[in-house]
Amino acid sequence: MIRSAPQTSTINRDRLLQSIAELAAIGCLPQGGVRRIAYTPEDIQGRNLVRQWMQKADMKVRIDAAGNIIGRYEGKFPQLPVLATGSHLDTVPSGGRYDGALGVLAGLEVVRGLQDTNLQFDRPFEVIVFTDEENSTIGSKAMSGNVVGDSDYYRRPDGSSIQTCLQRIGGNWDAIATAKRPVGEIAAFVELHVEQGPVLESMQKEIGIVEGIVGQRRFKIFVEGNANHAGTTPMYMRRDALVTASKVVLAVNAIGNTPGQQVATVGQLQVYPNAANVVPGNVEMSLDIRDLSDCHIDCLLEQLRLHFEDIALATDTKIHIVPQLHLEPALAEPHIQQAIARACEKMGLSYTHLPSRASHDAQEMANITEMGMIFVPSSGGISHAEEEHSSPEECLRGAKVLWETLWQLDRYYGT
Ligand SMILES: [Zn+2]
Repeated sequence: MIRSAPQTSTINRDRLLQSIAELAAIGCLPQGGVRRIAYTPEDIQGRNLVRQWMQKADMKVRIDAAGNIIGRYEGKFPQLPVLATGSHLDTVPSGGRYDGALGVLAGLEVVRGLQDTNLQFDRPFEVIVFTDEENSTIGSKAMSGNVVGDSDYYRRPDGSSIQTCLQRIGGNWDAIATAKRPVGEIAAFVELHVEQGPVLESMQKEIGIVEGIVGQRRFKIFVEGNANHAGTTPMYMRRDALVTASKVVLAVNAIGNTPGQQVATVGQLQVYPNAANVVPGNVEMSLDIRDLSDCHIDCLLEQLRLHFEDIALATDTKIHIVPQLHLEPALAEPHIQQAIARACEKMGLSYTHLPSRASHDAQEMANITEMGMIFVPSSGGISHAEEEHSSPEECLRGAKVLWETLWQLDRYYGT
């Protein structure tokens, strides 16, 4: 007879670490990193390996129209909304072995542990491999019904069409709408991921409980001054766009440093005409600002606008701001954060709450289900690089916290 899941985790340390190593061998780079760009032969090889592992673990595996691999481990009550976890297997061109892979393989290990002991959660459990997280997040976007209709939007940098790419991995662009999961079908989605930042390590915390994925606004700022001879134009007659731009950069940095969790950055700057002997006439620059609260971002932007007006007046230049991108924050469900905290307490692990300032598939999933995320430390805060590293113990702790959180959520949602 199949029994309910036990109260203690069934995560097998060696098997989890072995799987991480085996997967990292596909597309491995000389410095220990990984190159498994979505839709490439390496990506397909990695996906196939994980698919086989899922099948071996008694999971029913299907691929939806967006190419997402969905492995389902049946629950005691198959009609109940599912618990889900997952992440991605694709990497950036020169990525690490943990970003994405850890979340998928920890989910798989949860199932393997249950299968070992012939146990089940009450509800069905899914491990999802999302398509192309690194470039387009088309997999999680399709699952939450947010795919852009124009297929050209998803054209790859090498020119290949999304139709061809999805076909290669068993998806189908023409049927992409069918990948959407209705609200209510998934009770909760919990993603385990490496932090990709330095906060946990610097605070010496073992686990991060993600409060949400920050919202992001991006703008183009145009500064208009007057290009003129750098020798003959007296200082008091100049309208130097770069001087104005410099004050803008400092104002943005100052806003970022006011109390709060926001970050604000000018990362791009073009100077015209960009000549050593000409007073700069125009500058085009970027503004990127992120926070967990959309209202707080609004408030900071209002302060910046007032600041910019003063700067423009004082420098006799003009400053125009043009919106480019507005991504709303995706908040993690408070009761899932509590479940993760309880899991940490039960295991005697130190933890802290923190926002995620990088995008994740969980962000899209928050549109259709209750979402939570667990972070483990990234050594030196490094990721999207071959040096990306989380220790075996850190990976193991993350997987155990995932297991415990899922077990608690299975109880929380009841039968
Ligand atoms: Zn990732």
